[in-house]
Amino acid sequence: MRTNNFLRLNVGFLLKEGVGYSREFQFGEPHAQVADDLDVTNLRGRVRLTRTPQGLYANGQIAGDVRAECGRCLEEVSQPLTARIAELFIYPPEHAARGEAVVGEEGFINLAPIVREDMLLSAPMQALCRDDCKGLCPQCGANRNTETCACTDETSDPRLAALKSLLEK
Ligand SMILES: [Zn+2]
Ligand SMILES: [Zn+2]
Repeated sequence: MRTNNFLRLNVGFLLKEGVGYSREFQFGEPHAQVADDLDVTNLRGRVRLTRTPQGLYANGQIAGDVRAECGRCLEEVSQPLTARIAELFIYPPEHAARGEAVVGEEGFINLAPIVREDMLLSAPMQALCRDDCKGLCPQCGANRNTETCACTDETSDPRLAALKSLLEK
């Protein structure tokens, strides 16, 4: 597994070029750790870096899959995530305002924090193994995608059960 070092790019050669010069970086990692809390498989994408008067503009997209748990049936699912990158890295760094991304003194930029943040922001609140996942039976816990349990829908809804017992009186 690769650590996130591969998202740290040596861009010193780009800083020597004129405004408008650009270079594309491609990424392809079977399994990479983007951050301590983000392991990504099948990471791929491309980012174009363009020299601007202010520094370097990074524009592109990096996608990958993370392992998650289906919010209904708890099965492990592969959740696709995409990070969209559109960030200006200021150079020289002393021209940057507080909070702005910079090209480091040694001529490196690090895309890892941006990729991490955007991937986590793009993650759905609840992962699903499939849109029509039937989930677990609330009574016996059976996975309704793969097994049919003996519990009936009638008794699985407590409001219906209460109504039924009223009617039976
Ligand atoms: Zn599911
Ligand atoms: Zn059941």
